[in-house]
Amino acid sequence: MAEPGARRPRIVFDPDALGHNTARLAASCTAHGISFAAVTKATGGNPRIARLMLANGADMLADSRLANIARLRRAGIEAPVMLLRAPAMGEIAEAARLADICLLSEPGTISRLARARAALGHRLEVVLMVDLGDLREGVPAAGLPHLVRLVAAMDNVDIVGLGSNLACNLGVLPDRDNMAALAAMARQVQARIGRPLRYLSAGNSSALPLMLEGGLPPEINHLRLGESLLLGRETAHGRHLPGMRDDCFAVVAQVIETHSKSPPAQARCAPNALGRRPGLPRAGPRRLAVLNIGAVDCEIGGLRPDDSALRVMGYSSDHMILDTTDAENAPAVGDEIRLWPDYHALATGMTSPYLAQVGEDATGPSGARMAARRDSRCLPTTRKAVR
Ligand SMILES: *Cc1c(COP(=O)(O)O)cnc(C)c1O
Repeated sequence: MAEPGARRPRIVFDPDALGHNTARLAASCTAHGISFAAVTKATGGNPRIARLMLANGADMLADSRLANIARLRRAGIEAPVMLLRAPAMGEIAEAARLADICLLSEPGTISRLARARAALGHRLEVVLMVDLGDLREGVPAAGLPHLVRLVAAMDNVDIVGLGSNLACNLGVLPDRDNMAALAAMARQVQARIGRPLRYLSAGNSSALPLMLEGGLPPEINHLRLGESLLLGRETAHGRHLPGMRDDCFAVVAQVIETHSKSPPAQARCAPNALGRRPGLPRAGPRRLAVLNIGAVDCEIGGLRPDDSALRVMGYSSDHMILDTTDAENAPAVGDEIRLWPDYHALATGMTSPYLAQVGEDATGPSGARMAARRDSRCLPTTRKAVR
């Protein structure tokens, strides 16, 4: 059976590699006394990927968007799901229905959600978020005692955890000091509510380097991990994590034109189609290949050709232009080019209506393994080799 969209620009993922990454990270986290929620937002809540993560050691799922959680539920996934971003007014009923645990710090939202949960016959489980300096979500540390008092007095709410998120807005990193401060705050919250917290949820994939060097206080028992599972790297320094696969996802596009061209020696330039001023490239003639993928399909600047002899010369809404002059075998029209996405390209690619999504593994419909991927064909239905 032909893979749907096999010749369209597509994003392919390798279930074996994703399963491997989840199991590997679960083992490291367990060794440090940590459980984790697998964050599905960069996959648009893809149920197949969510199931793989649950089967390989994730205790629960987490997503920032209700539409993604709804997709997981429609697919029949009943595992606990954390809502990472506070619901907006108008989303309260839906959040109450879809999420098991919510990361929140606005008392008004908490009390509305508690009422909506009560109407469904459930209690609201909340992880109170405290801001350790990244200035995104969370109450400032000084406001935490007051928030705890308010929430503890509300009907139908259980404070089940304390959480924090770093490295997303200002890029403030988790370190021994702010993690120790978080642990101290958790002790204060426990003293105030008179029972232990189930989760001290210290952060995202940026906390992994500190965890691996043993720098997280023992009280911290939970992380929310996305990029590390999907791309095999931590996000504090963007380094590859040992033993993790960095080839779980690839974007594949086709060469639709090739020409040898020279840039004009001189030209008056305005901002290009994307409002950028890339400047004139190296003098020619250069051998160029135009691909059928552009900024409308995904975050095009976040794609890197697998073949390092291919250099991204430019892109616009619907095209990517590669300089193939240095490649041994120049790609021809009809050839497919494999590109590695960064996190932003992955997230936009997996939610793009223009990119087909194909899971490739030994048992999948394609029958192809990505194991020998670098120089192999992408799919059996593809006549020309994927570069
Ligand atoms: C996206 C998100 C995460 C996961 O971040 P990664 O860097 O992908 O691990 C964790 N927590 C919150 C609150 C998030 O929004």
